[in-house]
Amino acid sequence: MTSMTPHHDATLTLVVNVPRHIQQARSGQEDAPSSGGGFLALAVLVAVLVVAYRISVHLHPFTKCSTCRGSGKHFGAVFKSAHRPCDACRGTGRKPRRGSRAQ
Ligand SMILES: [Zn+2]
Repeated sequence: MTSMTPHHDATLTLVVNVPRHIQQARSGQEDAPSSGGGFLALAVLVAVLVVAYRISVHLHPFTKCSTCRGSGKHFGAVFKSAHRPCDACRGTGRKPRRGSRAQ
């Protein structure tokens, strides 16, 4: 019994080890070029997005005020129609977008 168990384990180890070795070799060969290309593609994508955002901010430097949702008014909690200019945007209803020169 004891002599069969190590033999059985050795066979299992051999069967399991060979595919692992092949998989590691294949993944190692495939990962190096694909990860480099993926990083380059990601860098290009980020650069394109940054340029597109800067053009968009240049064309439209303002966005809606998040406090008053663009209305420019701060309404009372009890008297719903009573309002004053929004504190965050001073009643303009807009705020400069991130990265705009209007900040
Ligand atoms: Zn506001």
